[in-house]
Amino acid sequence: MAKKVILTGDRPTGKLHLGHYVGSLKNRVILQNTGDYDVYVFIADLQALTDNARNPEKIRNSLIEVALDYLSVGLDPQKTTIFVQSQIPELTELTVHYMNLVTLARLKRNPTIKTEIKERGFGEAVPVGFLAYPISQAADITAFNANLIPVGDDQLPLIEQCKEIVHSFNSIYGNVLVEPEAMLSQNKACVRLPGIDGKAKMSKSLGNCIYLSDDKETVKNKVMSMYTDPNHVKVEDPGNVENNTVFTYLDAFATDEHFKKYLNEYNNLDELKEHYRRGGLGDVKVKKFLINVLEDILEPIREKRSYYEKHIDLVYDMLSEGSKKARIVAQETLKKVRDAIGINYFN
Ligand code: ATP
Ligand code: MG
Repeated sequence: MAKKVILTGDRPTGKLHLGHYVGSLKNRVILQNTGDYDVYVFIADLQALTDNARNPEKIRNSLIEVALDYLSVGLDPQKTTIFVQSQIPELTELTVHYMNLVTLARLKRNPTIKTEIKERGFGEAVPVGFLAYPISQAADITAFNANLIPVGDDQLPLIEQCKEIVHSFNSIYGNVLVEPEAMLSQNKACVRLPGIDGKAKMSKSLGNCIYLSDDKETVKNKVMSMYTDPNHVKVEDPGNVENNTVFTYLDAFATDEHFKKYLNEYNNLDELKEHYRRGGLGDVKVKKFLINVLEDILEPIREKRSYYEKHIDLVYDMLSEGSKKARIVAQETLKKVRDAIGINYFN
């Protein structure tokens, strides 16, 4: 039986952050290492240009940063095909065919797009390319016959949109496209990690991130500045762990091992939360623990990054090779799509 195909991407609009790590990257590496799947990971530069057309330098510079982040967290080009969206023109043609199957009303109703238009202050001045990026995303997914998409929950409406396109296409032109399934993390704190400002989502565009490449001092300062329970003023005060960003991060990152290593007066997070609720546990102590937990994860990532930063040529070669390999697959899909529509007049 053919292996299941996993595909995910990231917009090169900056470096990758802890939200990416728990929402998607960590899972990709685990899945890659099972050897049970064909894994594709791509840098969505065309999508990033849809809201950054006037700032192409940013996209160009971020491309290499994202590639460095990939290698640093353990994505392995021997096991995973890593490619660049713009280097596969077939994706753009697929987008054009799918555009005819989606209405303007449907795009405007997409909850993710609605939120993002608001966040960016676009209103009616939204670029057509931005509004239509869910269609281009459907092209990315279907070009590689992807079955599973490991993502944060902001992506669910986009996967839904992709499924609709697959249904429309297959019902009109015959069974060509594969329907994808979103794959969410089991840990609630991971499907949408909040920003350090406590806002709903850590996001490059909102500037509330801890980046995988932040140095130790920066991570420390960011954690120390994090929002906790505003009513937990004195150490003796009982505290709230819900909507308390520091505890949400511990939900996402802390393991019992971390307690053994850094805070062995508690066996696990439940015991720490219990003490905080009761009163008598200060924010600084909890934050210091979180810093240790994050350092445990980030230090090995930083180390790998510094190796690849010294070997940038290797990183570009890796992207170029991956893009060549991926293009062959996209070409096969596009041929099937053209045949199905009947625009194959000369063969
Ligand atoms: P931008 O602000 O440019 O949209 P972003 O920070 O939202 O950037 P994306 O490149 O859009 O990052 O997202 C890439 C992947 O990471 C998606 O699968 C998305 O669901 C996931 N992701 C992004 N932010 C988070 C988060 N805070 N928590 C969990 N998953 C996230
Ligand atoms: Mg995003």
